[in-house]
Amino acid sequence: MFYFINKIILGTLPFIPKNIIKAISNRYIAGIDDEEALKTIKKLNEMNLSATIDILGEHTKNVDESDNITNRYIKLYKEISKNNLDCNISIKPSHIGSDISLETFTKNLALIHNEADNNNNFLRIDMENSTLTDITINAFKNNYKKLKNIGIVIQAYLYRSEQDINNLESGMNIRLCKGIYNENETIAIKNPKKINDNYLSLLDQSLKKNIFVGIATHDINLIEKILCLIEENNFNKKQFEFQVLYGVPMKKTIQKLIALKYKVRVYVPYGDNWYEYSMRRLNENPNISKYVIKNFFTKNFYK
Ligand SMILES: Cc1cc2nc3c(=O)[nH]c(=O)nc-3n(C[C@H](O)[C@H](O)[C@H](O)COP(=O)(O)OP(=O)(O)OC[C@H]3O[C@@H](n4cnc5c(N)ncnc54)[C@H](O)[C@@H]3O)c2cc1C
Repeated sequence: MFYFINKIILGTLPFIPKNIIKAISNRYIAGIDDEEALKTIKKLNEMNLSATIDILGEHTKNVDESDNITNRYIKLYKEISKNNLDCNISIKPSHIGSDISLETFTKNLALIHNEADNNNNFLRIDMENSTLTDITINAFKNNYKKLKNIGIVIQAYLYRSEQDINNLESGMNIRLCKGIYNENETIAIKNPKKINDNYLSLLDQSLKKNIFVGIATHDINLIEKILCLIEENNFNKKQFEFQVLYGVPMKKTIQKLIALKYKVRVYVPYGDNWYEYSMRRLNENPNISKYVIKNFFTKNFYK
């Protein structure tokens, strides 16, 4: 049934007026400029929530653009410090130059990473599609050798993730998510229940290895199982936090997690690239259209 709904939605996407896409994406995006985004972060902090901020954009095609975005991230660290916000930064490799050249990406990553250190802050490298997994993990490990305030993302749908965690060191920092891209079945688990089983197994593996985990999911049943796993193993609260995307209706779960004294971090995207970003996400993962329709009728907890 949803297969056909997705097909219809994808077919009609190019004909939906831009202002309608904006109205829909508004829920998930904290404004266009730094000022609006920082205001949102302040509000989240006042709600006892930590944040991670991401400037919308990916697959940058020229050096000037990737330098420009790198400078914006550097400025953002300064703004976060100046405003005393509980907020780190998440970046996408292809946004800062991995499509241009490995050299460009490596240079820009090091600049942003150094600035994170200058500001006593942290940098997370998001995980994009599987063509970038090795590049991302290698870049993370090279930077980690110099400064420890950097982390990556592990995707539970990839068969390789167990081995990738095996190859990480105790004390490293990952975000664990299911994975958003449409990967081939030869490398990725497709069955939702099996993805969840793998998620739990990778979480257990990581926490037992003393890796810090950002537990990033909105799947309420999975979160219940995660809470049991944490309790059964008496995992230390300092070793993990929960993470959600801005705009996804998670009020009750967030309140429950906070009442249990767990840390919750909200991933906040912002920027003028909202249209391209929204269209690409909808095209890449038609399931999102199903979520968006459902969420459209739920009050936004953050606004
Ligand atoms: C903080 C954070 C960072 C992430 N970073 C990455 C990353 O670096 N790389 C990567 O591949 N993936 C990333 N993801 C996406 C993740 O991989 C999943 O695709 C996404 O979170 C949906 O999976 P789920 O665990 O929430 O469970 P699902 O079972 O897919 O979703 C559970 C429910 O959550 C809601 N929901 C989930 N996603 C959305 C959405 N996008 N919009 C609206 N509602 C939604 C729906 O109500 C849905 O029914 C991130 C997710 C989070 C929360």
